[in-house]
Formats: sequence, C-alpha cells, structure tokens
Amino acid sequence: MDDLLAQLHDRLRAGLPAEALITDPDVTASYAHDMASFCAAGTPAVVVLPRTVEQVQHVMRTATALRVPVVPQGARTGLSGAANASDGCIVLSLTKMDRILEISPVDRIAVVEPGVVNAVLSRAVGEHGLYYPPDPSSWETCTIGGNIGTASGGLCCVKYGVTAEYVLGLDVVLADGRLMSTGRRTAKGVAGYDLTRLFVGSEGSLGIVVKAVLALRPKPPRQLVLAAEFPSAATACDAICAIMERGHTPSLLELMDRTTIRAVNQLAHMGLPDTTEALLLAAFDTPDPTADLLAVGELCTAHGATQVVPAEDAAESELLLQARRLSLTALETLKPATMIDDVCVPRSQLADMIEGTSAVAEKYDLTIGLCAHAGDGNTHPVVCFDHHDPDESRRARESFDEIMALGLELGGTITGEHGVGVLKKEWLARELGPVGLELQRGIKQTFDPLGILNPGKLF
Ligand SMILES: Cc1cc2nc3c(=O)[nH]c(=O)nc-3n(C[C@H](O)[C@H](O)[C@H](O)COP(=O)(O)OP(=O)(O)OC[C@H]3O[C@@H](n4cnc5c(N)ncnc54)[C@H](O)[C@@H]3O)c2cc1C
Repeated sequence: MDDLLAQLHDRLRAGLPAEALITDPDVTASYAHDMASFCAAGTPAVVVLPRTVEQVQHVMRTATALRVPVVPQGARTGLSGAANASDGCIVLSLTKMDRILEISPVDRIAVVEPGVVNAVLSRAVGEHGLYYPPDPSSWETCTIGGNIGTASGGLCCVKYGVTAEYVLGLDVVLADGRLMSTGRRTAKGVAGYDLTRLFVGSEGSLGIVVKAVLALRPKPPRQLVLAAEFPSAATACDAICAIMERGHTPSLLELMDRTTIRAVNQLAHMGLPDTTEALLLAAFDTPDPTADLLAVGELCTAHGATQVVPAEDAAESELLLQARRLSLTALETLKPATMIDDVCVPRSQLADMIEGTSAVAEKYDLTIGLCAHAGDGNTHPVVCFDHHDPDESRRARESFDEIMALGLELGGTITGEHGVGVLKKEWLARELGPVGLELQRGIKQTFDPLGILNPGKLF
C-alpha cells in the first residue's frame, strides 16, 4: 500500500466507526459506476458510508488535507456517469443517511436525509394525505440526494414540475468540511442569492447534501390513465400539441414508440398493442378524471388515433404506467449495449425531434427505440448496439451525438433530466457557450478551489 493510501485510511479511520469504511478493493470496485454505459470510471481508494453529518465533515476535512477527490453517490442509478469514481477517490455513499426527519402537514414540508429512497418518501408522506411529486421511473431505488444532484424529473412533471421546484432548503457540507444551510422552510423567502437552486443539478460538484427541506402538496385524487394508439409519431405529437393548446392539465403525458412497446412486451408480456407505431398514455388526477379522459380521447381520435382505450380502474392504470416505467430497462435488453439519450425540446418541436431521430437511426442503420415524457418535450432515444462490433459502436456514438445536435438545432437542451456527468461534457460547452461556461467554472472554483469534488464531471 502506498503512503498516501495508508495515510488516507488512517485519517478516515480516526473519525469514523469501522463499519462506515470499506477498503477491500473487490468491494470498493463495485462502487465504481452508475448505470450509464460507456462512461469512463476510475478505481476508488476507499468507500465511506457515513451515518451522520459530522462523519461527512470528517471525510471532507480529510480529503481537503490530503487533496484527495471525493465522489458523492446515492443509489448509482444515474444515466450520465455523474456518480462514477475517479482514480484514487473517496466514494462517499450517502445511502445510510436515510432517515425521514420530519413531515409537517401544516407547513407542507418534509425534512429528509439524502439517502431516503424516492418511493419511500412518497409512501410516507402519502400516509399524511400529502404528495411529493417528482417521480423518476427509477423511484423505487433512487435517492433524494441523487434526485437533487441530477435535478431529476419523472412522469408527473408535465403537471407538477421537476425536483428543482420542490427543494426549499439544504444543509450542505462544503469541500473544506464547513456546514452551510441554504434556503428556507417557509412558504416564501428571497434572502440573498438562491444557492439552493444552484445546488440542484450540480452533480455533486459543489458540496455534499446532508439534509433537504422539500415542499409537499396535498395528495391529489388517484389518476386514471388512457392509452391511445397512433399510426405515426407525428400524429401522436399533433394530439399532444392539441391537448396542451386546449388547456388540459394531464398529470402524465407519455409516448412509447413501436420498438419500445415490443421491447416491453418481450420483457414483461404485458400485451401492449405492438403493431401500432406510437402509444400515447395520458392521465388525469382531476376531480372528474373520466370527463377529462373522454375529452382528451376525442382529441386523440380527431388527430388520427386508431384506438382509444381508457383504463377501467386504478389497477389497469397502474399496469399501463408500469409498462412505461419499464421502457428503458426493456430497450436495454434488445442489444448487448445501449446509450440512453435525454434530449428535451419545446413541445411544439417534438414531432420534428422524433422524426429526426428516426432519420438518424436509418442513416446509421441502427435500432433506436424512443420513449418520451412527451408532455414536457423530453425524449429518451435509446441507441441499441453491439459494443463488440467496432463499426457498430462508432455508428452508435455518432448517432448519439447527432441526436443531441438535432435537439440544440430545434431550440432544445442536451439533457432534460439525466444530467451531464461524463457522458455529455463536450456538449455542455456547446450548449452554454464560452461566456456561460467561464462563469460556471468560476462558480465551481468558488465552492471547490482545490477541485476535489467530483472532478471530471460537467466540465
Ligand atoms: C430504469 C431507470 C429509469 C430512470 N428514469 C428516470 C426518470 O424518469 N427521470 C429522471 O430524471 N431520471 C431517471 N433515471 C436516472 C436516475 O435514476 C436519476 O438521475 C436519479 O436522480 C439518480 O439518483 P441516485 O440516487 O441513483 O443518484 P446517483 O446516480 O448515485 O448520483 C447522481 C448524481 O448526484 C450526486 N449526488 C448523489 N447524492 C448526493 C448528495 N447527497 N450530495 C451531493 N451530490 C449527490 C452524484 O455525485 C451524481 O452526480 C432513471 C434511471 C434508470 C436506471
């Protein structure tokens, strides 16, 4: 063992219980990656699983003293390599800090540690008649800390917005070990710069979130889902535009293309209509969801839907949602490897985005399945390929890039919710431009002058 590693272990050990420290290289190696494919990852020197804020502070003080990089991690379900280890780093896994500290129905807030799993929080607040809306498809495993790190979205964002809209305040351990509180637990507050918002989506590059105050809403009525089959993605997109233009407020508006539907059927035998080109799922959690579904069903038919099937009850609705939640996992089974994209365009440009993606698939002779948070214009084209075949791998990478270029051309962004991480570093510079990039680097420098927080991500 070299000197630095021995010193690192000794110093960490001095302020941590034995069970919080993992040094066995076989085990630490298993913390190297999140779920993104083809993103570089290094070998961690050590994994720390703190249970208290003081333990996190001890880790950061040690890292600062020895100039060792720190990679914060939640459940590692990320899709951009943002939680990937760098060589010789301390992986700081926050999964053991998983207590819900408070749920206040009067203040409509929850105060949580970062390792709380999204679905666990949702169920807990549900028992108080409350609702925490951000619901990534990975909600049964991903953590609130990771959701804040990536500013994650989900299925119901079309009505309720994304994580950023629900984070009121944070406790953050800074690079040098100091503890900072940002934001508020009040309904309003404008004191100073909005540092809370700055941390949302910062991918662990500015500090370690150790506590979050989250806004809650009253629990809405149970949503009912409608499935509409379309002969083309373009007609489905016309229906989406009409639904939004008419002022409807769906709690979910999701699209699956034919490739995705088939993949889900193959994986889970769900009996989805796999001869259809595009399946639109719309849901309403309004006081009279049946009436809303009827109106939206009529709009779908007017825009070319060949079949419109409202779910009969909550169980049938849940089944349809389950199918959508399985989409990425199902597409991953089609080929040995996948690259999952996350391009978001103004909803009015969605048809062009989807059509352009098909053209890219044809040009590169690849299978590219697509599912989308269509109401948000957020597409997930999934490039499926065989990474053992160098030519196919090259075509996959080029098509992935071309899809991002298309998104920017259409006035969109390279990432709607998965983040930049390692995967889209070069593309961030293109989206921000030189001035934006310089200022963002300046912010990073202010919070992390030694560059030890999640280095190699974002920039
Ligand atoms: C099947 C599947 C479906 C998915 N569906 C969606 C979806 O619908 N919408 C969506 O937005 N995403 C989705 N994702 C992506 C992923 O689940 C989200 O990005 C999620 O927010 C990551 O949470 P995590 O706990 O796994 O965090 P990780 O992947 O471990 O970390 C994510 C980032 O947050 C940082 N981080 C983690 N904890 C902290 C902390 N305490 N302090 C500071 N930084 C921290 C990490 O350094 C990293 O940069 C999906 C992923 C999968 C595998």
